[in-house]
Amino acid sequence: MAAVLIVGAGPTGLTLACGLARLGAKVRIIDKSPEFQSSSRGKGLNTRSLEVLADLGIGDRLLAAGRTRLPFRKYFAGEFVADADLSLDSAPTPDAPYPGGLFLPQFRVEELLREQLATYGVKVELGVELADFSQDEHHVTVTLADGGRITADYLVGCDGGRSPVRKRLGLGFEGSSDPEQAMVCGDVEVDGLDRTVWHQWFGPEGAVLLCPFEGSEKWQFQASPEREASGAEVEPSLESFQRIFDRCAGLPDVRLRNATWLSTWRVNVRMADRYRVGRVLIAGDAAHVHPIAGGLGMNTGIQDAWNLGWKLAHVVTGQAEPGLLDTYEEERLPIAAWTLNLTSATLSTMNESIRTPGVGIESGFTPDLTGLGIGYRRSSLSDDRLGGSLRAGDRAPDAPLLGPDATPTRLFDLYAGGHFTLLSFGHPAPELETAVRSVAIDAGPGSFDDVDGHARRAYGVDGAALVLVRPDNHIALTARADDAAAVRAYLAGLGR
Ligand SMILES: Cc1cc2nc3c(=O)[nH]c(=O)nc-3n(C[C@H](O)[C@H](O)[C@H](O)COP(=O)(O)OP(=O)(O)OC[C@H]3O[C@@H](n4cnc5c(N)ncnc54)[C@H](O)[C@@H]3O)c2cc1C
Repeated sequence: MAAVLIVGAGPTGLTLACGLARLGAKVRIIDKSPEFQSSSRGKGLNTRSLEVLADLGIGDRLLAAGRTRLPFRKYFAGEFVADADLSLDSAPTPDAPYPGGLFLPQFRVEELLREQLATYGVKVELGVELADFSQDEHHVTVTLADGGRITADYLVGCDGGRSPVRKRLGLGFEGSSDPEQAMVCGDVEVDGLDRTVWHQWFGPEGAVLLCPFEGSEKWQFQASPEREASGAEVEPSLESFQRIFDRCAGLPDVRLRNATWLSTWRVNVRMADRYRVGRVLIAGDAAHVHPIAGGLGMNTGIQDAWNLGWKLAHVVTGQAEPGLLDTYEEERLPIAAWTLNLTSATLSTMNESIRTPGVGIESGFTPDLTGLGIGYRRSSLSDDRLGGSLRAGDRAPDAPLLGPDATPTRLFDLYAGGHFTLLSFGHPAPELETAVRSVAIDAGPGSFDDVDGHARRAYGVDGAALVLVRPDNHIALTARADDAAAVRAYLAGLGR
């Protein structure tokens, strides 16, 4: 019997499956689709998602598959206006190794996650559709569309915006929909355009954007829909995309061909009122949908799964009490509310920029979109006893260190793997009975050396202190260096 059944093998379900499998949880992941998705949809990973996926072991493969530099080339009323290169403002810093986001199509992210999942012996079961489920005190039983059954300890619906799991739980999905605010999108091949920039044509005729992808002939097409004389929207098709392009871009030599995905996206701003009912949870688009402006859909789903993964793994492997699962909703539901507001504001800014010559969609890009600032200070899992600049709940930053044998390493290397890490600044690490990785820094022989004081600066520690870091690389606890009892009590509180 599976400990966890994940419904939906999009980026959320796959991240969750990897997070569970690497910690030894028995997981199954099903998807109703008969084949893997091949559409580009989410075309960017933000900085925090890169950190998360690097911890899961696919950072280098993602960087090799994507593009960190993709200038936006803006045209207005058919005339070239300017290039904006966001990558020029970003460089790696000691506390954040990824200088910016990464452009790559969602199908590549999913492919790499599936490869990683396969290394744990887990494969996505395609063509397997959840039809219904029931739960009791001990199990969840899922009925499949073909009449089969799967029993698991927990069920997680990562089944997208129309989530059957959310609907069958009867959860509210409050918010607004604006069917008039629509965008047609698809994947096409393009002859006659420079592949080194993201082309963005704006003007009185509407907008059309063509984004090239690394290692693929595909470009993502996004545009204001074509309309009939009656005002009715024209269904997306290659012919309609070409007409929109000709009208907005006015480049008769550029031809679109081989459309492999055609779709219409409409503005929905909604979120679930609960993320857990007993043994059933939801994550990703199943829990929240919002404007794609700013590119946070896939990213927020990946980060939901990152938050839930270690908690669920600890519960099903008997290391934590089920109550730990309540902190998933406690921490991530406010992030969804914040994301709905942020992306709605970003959409308004971008809509305005489309109408303004000389202003590009980059005007809507703010540091909030990196995800680095997301934290859980108010969470019941955050125990801050020092009140420094970095608090319990905050993202645990990176820093370069020299190991006891003078080998260069990084805090992120020491965190990777899904375990708790105890940093002990200026004091030998206390002995702990549990499987926590102890890292003494500037604490005499055998400890790590804080190169140029980066770690101390990033963690706001002058003298001696203890910092317990969660498996998802957020700070669990800060305490005095001699207060090992606080660490023991914290871990005992999880039921470990
Ligand atoms: C044009 C476009 C551009 C976008 N750009 C970005 C961007 O730049 N950045 C970004 O972060 N996001 C972007 N997004 C949003 C992003 O694509 C979604 O937020 C993301 O796919 C959500 O991932 P998910 O895993 O939660 O759900 P999904 O990817 O929707 O996956 C859900 C899966 O569940 C399966 N499923 C559903 N019902 C069942 C069932 N009953 N039984 C079994 N399986 C089931 C489905 O087949 C599907 O595979 C964009 C979306 C679009 C359309």
